[in-house]
Amino acid sequence: MNLTRSGYRARKSILVTGGAGFIGSHLCDRLLADDHEVICLDNFFTGAKQNIDHLIGHPRFELLRHDITFPLYVEVDAIYNLACPAAPIHYQCDPVQTTKTSVAGAINMLGLAKRLKCPVFQASTSEVYGSPKIHPQTEDYWGHVNPIGPRSCYDEGKRCAETLFFDYHRQHNIQIKVARIFNTYGSRMHLNDGRVVSNFIVQALKGEPITIYGDGKQTRSFCYVDDLIEGFIRFMNSPPNLTGPINLGNPGEFTIGQLAELVIELTGSQSKIIHLPLPQDDPHQRKPDVTVAKEHLGWSPSIALREGLRSTIDYYDRLISNKANVMPS
Ligand code: NAD
Ligand code: UDP
Repeated sequence: MNLTRSGYRARKSILVTGGAGFIGSHLCDRLLADDHEVICLDNFFTGAKQNIDHLIGHPRFELLRHDITFPLYVEVDAIYNLACPAAPIHYQCDPVQTTKTSVAGAINMLGLAKRLKCPVFQASTSEVYGSPKIHPQTEDYWGHVNPIGPRSCYDEGKRCAETLFFDYHRQHNIQIKVARIFNTYGSRMHLNDGRVVSNFIVQALKGEPITIYGDGKQTRSFCYVDDLIEGFIRFMNSPPNLTGPINLGNPGEFTIGQLAELVIELTGSQSKIIHLPLPQDDPHQRKPDVTVAKEHLGWSPSIALREGLRSTIDYYDRLISNKANVMPS
């Protein structure tokens, strides 16, 4: 019998799908530090065993290799659904699987939550706003998304997942927590996943050209992973009627050109900037309005880009210089 589910102890058994990925592995760390039991589920499409190596053997940690597009039977008290490739080059290399992961994966995790009568958190994304027509983006904006482009498997997959979450909530009274995550960075981002922060840092550390796509005037808002995880925990612990969607991100807005300059400055690199073509449907600007998170979760990010970049640069520096190629945690 699971004592937690009958309310005898504060320790919960928590499923983290995508737990071996960048954000998922940080979430596993935090939940274990908060004294919970963690089942980390992953199919290792983009995740890495190195991200969770340090947790193997922990008495409250269990690793499960599984693909969420298939049904899952476990007994837990709460579910965080993070499984889905997040970097454009990863989600575009098998777009059909990306949509399946978002849509069939959501159905499986919602079905599990329905049987267990437990809360389920969805890692949605600012990509549901597409290339936005309002700025900054508030949760009531419906978005401007191309349904048939190269980013659509991810954007529309995540939009459909949100639809499923709200329909399960209305139809089956499932307790849902839908977070729209804006660009997040930190240690354990895949070295070659093509995302801008990891790309620029690795290029700068190796003395290679910094590749700005387009003119570099497009903007993004970058949230450090520790801030994001704090937002997840507060949201999951919030009253059951708080379903979201809630934006989680750092409202500081930077052009990609500014990010490149900052990475060069902080690494002391001699790298030169080069310009490459802008990918199709690349959003022109993105910045979260986090008023809802502030009001309902008492959450706002506290780690400035410069500070977060410093520790991320340290991580990649150790990673690149580690000859055995063992990822530091
Ligand atoms: P990531 O690629 O590092 O992690 C995703 C994890 O999911 C990986 O470990 C991968 O192996 C696993 N996975 C993929 N498909 C799976 C499947 N079918 N079954 C089981 N596991 C599967 O990406 P991340 O940056 O850590 O993103 C985590 C979540 O947060 C994703 O859902 C992503 O859409 C969302 N998100 C991330 C960002 C960001 O900036 N990092 C922004 C918005 C939303
Ligand atoms: N980008 C860039 N150079 C790179 C990688 C990305 O200029 O080496 C740009 C990309 O075109 C986009 C922004 O940086 O405008 C953020 O890209 P990322 O893939 O990190 O995230 P997303 O586009 O999903 O927000």
